[in-house]
Amino acid sequence: MARFIFVTGGVVSSLGKGLSSASLAYLLQSRGYKVRLRKLDPYLNVDPGTMSPFQHGEVFVTNDGAETDLDLGHYERFSGVSAKKSDNITTGKIYNDVLKKERKGEYLGKTVQVIPHITDRIKEFIKNDSSKEDFVICEIGGIVGDIESLPFVEAIRQFANDIGKKNTLFIHLTLVPYLKSSDEIKTKPTQHSVKELRSIGIQPDIIICRSERPIPLEHRKKISLFCNVDIKNVIETVDVRTIYEAPISFYREKLDVQVLNYFKLKSKRPVNLNPWKKITKIILQTKKQVNIAIIGKYVELKDAYKSLDEALTHGGIENKVKVNLVRIDSEKLKISEIPIKLKDISGILIPGGFGKRGTEGKIAAIKYARNNKIPFLGICYGMQMAIIEFARNKLNIKKATSSEFDKKGLPVIGLINEWIKDGKTVRGTDKNLGGTMRLGSYEAKLKENSMIRKIYGKKVINERHRHRYEVNTNYKDKFEKKGMNFSGFSPDGLLPEIIELKNHPWFIGVQFHPEFKSRPLAPHPLFSSFIKASKNHK
Ligand code: GLN
Repeated sequence: MARFIFVTGGVVSSLGKGLSSASLAYLLQSRGYKVRLRKLDPYLNVDPGTMSPFQHGEVFVTNDGAETDLDLGHYERFSGVSAKKSDNITTGKIYNDVLKKERKGEYLGKTVQVIPHITDRIKEFIKNDSSKEDFVICEIGGIVGDIESLPFVEAIRQFANDIGKKNTLFIHLTLVPYLKSSDEIKTKPTQHSVKELRSIGIQPDIIICRSERPIPLEHRKKISLFCNVDIKNVIETVDVRTIYEAPISFYREKLDVQVLNYFKLKSKRPVNLNPWKKITKIILQTKKQVNIAIIGKYVELKDAYKSLDEALTHGGIENKVKVNLVRIDSEKLKISEIPIKLKDISGILIPGGFGKRGTEGKIAAIKYARNNKIPFLGICYGMQMAIIEFARNKLNIKKATSSEFDKKGLPVIGLINEWIKDGKTVRGTDKNLGGTMRLGSYEAKLKENSMIRKIYGKKVINERHRHRYEVNTNYKDKFEKKGMNFSGFSPDGLLPEIIELKNHPWFIGVQFHPEFKSRPLAPHPLFSSFIKASKNHK
């Protein structure tokens, strides 16, 4: 049976529970164990699919089409294991499941309550769909003490009782602040947070202390004493210079060794930290820089394009160049300012997006990239905008638009049943926003002699999707005559997956999201190639 590791947070959020869990997963894997990572989110949304990236950061998409929390992206990037639908759950989903069951009369008239019905459903989720994992690491979103996270904390307490404490480990991540004015490190917030956790019946086995500076032994002793945790299990995590250093830093602190000791397990082989050391060195020592503009609607919140930022950095690692991300708000981008704003830019990227706001700025920037032969990568909405730009400015179809935001124009981008009139090809047009998209991994066939085929070095690829609208192929011949090659299609030949320009050094649009599959130890070929082209541009 798998052993279960629960990671809770204390004092403040955003301390890096996801990164800590992901690093631990890497270390345990490297020691020869099979690991699975899961996230339990306390909010009431059924899934993060309809949540604004402004508030919640990126929506991460799994191969099997789940719209999940961005922490699952960290998990995949560090552990290399593809997350699944069954790896993320929210309070909303739990209640939804329980209430559906209640309506069907499956509780046989009993009073439905948080304990045991909600907690039972949480426990079911923790255990579900596992296959011979040695460890399942479950991160609980939010912090201990939040009203929302209470049922989760109660459920994991019960869970440890159900399967035996020796098969369950509790890790609590807290903040140990440094006060500049008195030049002191403070352990009190950690003590209070652990007290809170113990009041709900959980004694942490390991405390990870996030701190700005190294925590002296006497302070660790204090935490050990007041929180009732073995001194060896008081682990510090001092701010790293790059996130890729996190596995190295946790290894130094012996987090993985302490976890194995707890379960009375031996390491099956030594940890291999070389890949992380190599990329940390590249990130920290590389002098050559390349400026990449990301022109999108959600640029204000850093996490809104998390996987994308990561994938671009991975492309930089592959090309030994530092990637400077220049975030430009497409809504505020005035057409007249484009030449000035993009003066020092070597590559332009338009990411995925929804709705009308900011589209004209994106289209104008694409025109600039096309005319000035600046490397361009359009992702999902970015590809759709590239189609509209080309139709308007090269095919002279001035009314070219997407039916997503303009019902009167000519939809070169539209819902599939708007432009395929065979009566067979329909996608659900369920009014419920959460359920009508092309989601998850789909195959695409790449055309011979295309740039994209060279970049991937494959004939068939699998990439993740998250969109409702598609490029209308009724205009394909016109586009191709003017130099835009439709170089990748869905296997049935109906849906354009990739477009590229012939008379341009590097201009590619993809209907999918390649960023979800890029990993620091295996950079995605499309991003490596884009950064290479950008590096050569200036
Ligand atoms: N809004 C577009 C669609 O639904 C693109 C979505 C995206 O970029 N992820 O098709």
